[in-house]
Amino acid sequence: MADFDLLVIGAGSGGVACARRAAHYGARVAIAESGRVGGTCVIRGCVPKKLMHLGAHFRELFRAARGYGWRLGEPVLDFAALLEARNAEIGRLNRVYLDMLESAGVRLLPGRARILARVAEGFRVEVEGIEGTAERIVVAVGARPSLPEIPGVEHAVTSDELLEDIYALPRRFVVVGAGYIGVELASIFRALGSEVTIVFRGELPLRGFDLDLRRELAGALSRAGVKLVAGARPERIVPVAGGYVLDTSQGPVESDCVLLATGRRPIPNTKGLGLEELGIRLDADGAIPVDVAYRTKVPGLFAVGDCSDHAGHGLDATQHDLTPVAIAEGRAVAERLFNANPKTVNYKTVPTAVFSLPQAAAVGLSQERATAEGREIKVFRTRFRPMLETLGGGEERVFMKLVVDASDDRVLGIHLVGGEAAEIVQGFAVALTCRATKAQFDATVALHPTAAEELVTMWRPAED
Ligand code: FAD
Ligand code: NDP
Repeated sequence: MADFDLLVIGAGSGGVACARRAAHYGARVAIAESGRVGGTCVIRGCVPKKLMHLGAHFRELFRAARGYGWRLGEPVLDFAALLEARNAEIGRLNRVYLDMLESAGVRLLPGRARILARVAEGFRVEVEGIEGTAERIVVAVGARPSLPEIPGVEHAVTSDELLEDIYALPRRFVVVGAGYIGVELASIFRALGSEVTIVFRGELPLRGFDLDLRRELAGALSRAGVKLVAGARPERIVPVAGGYVLDTSQGPVESDCVLLATGRRPIPNTKGLGLEELGIRLDADGAIPVDVAYRTKVPGLFAVGDCSDHAGHGLDATQHDLTPVAIAEGRAVAERLFNANPKTVNYKTVPTAVFSLPQAAAVGLSQERATAEGREIKVFRTRFRPMLETLGGGEERVFMKLVVDASDDRVLGIHLVGGEAAEIVQGFAVALTCRATKAQFDATVALHPTAAEELVTMWRPAED
């Protein structure tokens, strides 16, 4: 008999979810982790980022508060205090995760794991020089930032450093890349007080999102004072007195800090694990190919989360390197193996949000994607001043859009910028999962006064 029924490699979102669910069904489970338990999301991703987002959001609230009669002095940010509080919370969550594993009966193996061979009991593995066997393995090693090969790249930071290490607030902050991380951190640092420039190679930020959403967000970022340099490629980073010069195809940009937010593929984490020696061929991005049950081509070996190709769905225009997707995949494997439950993950209505200021959020198909699929569609749009700003005096607007299938009236996509976009989209994602029609949206009585009520009161399609 193998030492463990299941070894999970990587204690991030997918790995912890899988290990706990498997242990719940009585499996003897171990989990190997080379860094801090909690993984990217808890330690250097979603959670510290959202805390920074919440901290940065106060600037807008202080401004609006004056219109509501509050008399405040000039607010002053103690950046070190924000980081200290953030890091203390991450430490607390890390301990919560350790406790959760312990109380579930999952054995933690600290260190880097490597698969040595297939053996009669399953697999022989090694974690920091200690060898053992496991009947099955789930690889959940996640991803890491991928950097462009430019001279001076070593002078840049990634989100890992910005969100995990103590870092002084840069006066001038330049971000390369306008995906999730670039847009989020650019607008967070802008609201915290930095002068921010985003340098990106496309025409608009957030490739893959609905074009209207991208335009609205680009406008909102510019109004917030973020300088957008489109169509620019990074060429080199040169240290100069008091900072750095980022040379780009559109000219130089000076700053005190250069953030490279250029994606997390190709994935280095899947190298050196022993996968290729077992005959697994990684895809061009270094992701592990899996089938709908997250099986690799080696029996007993599974992969979930950012390190996998999400059963082929990760290559889709919709992005699936998200925490709830990793968790759902991890649980699906545990359910299938230890509870005879062939659970699958619904990739069609995965809601997503960009925690910029303002937020952008979406679920389902963009207008461009729906059209490319050959669907006849109707589009509903609205743009309005949020109630907060009526007295708050700000320029911000909320943008909402529905993409509806003209043939069967189904709502295919929802796209929002502004206000509590993420919270609203989470709720409406249930409606899309239930394949709600526009008529059912219309039949839902509004909740007044809210921003979200606009989603059930848009009655006239756009002319285009
Ligand atoms: P991870 O969470 O990365 O966990 C993998 C773990 O494996 C790591 O702890 C690593 O140390 C460990 N490991 C690697 N190799 C080995 C080895 N050989 N042996 C042992 N251990 C190993 N998603 C959202 O849904 N919402 C957000 O708001 C959001 N914000 C983000 C912000 C940032 C800055 C980043 C970088 C990501 C964000 N994400 C967000 C994405 C989300 O964090 C990831 O999709 C999620 O963490 C993936 O989970 P995972 O289990 O696949 O991998
Ligand atoms: P993204 O893939 O979202 O964006 C990468 C950006 O970098 C794009 O603008 C891309 O341009 C650009 N880029 C890529 N390579 C180069 C290069 N060689 N030179 C110049 N620009 C380049 O990745 P992120 O790093 O922002 O985030 C990684 C993943 O983490 C996300 O995809 C998401 O899954 C997850 N995440 C989720 C969050 C959330 O849910 N709120 C928040 C943060 C991260 P182009 O578009 O032209 O390819």
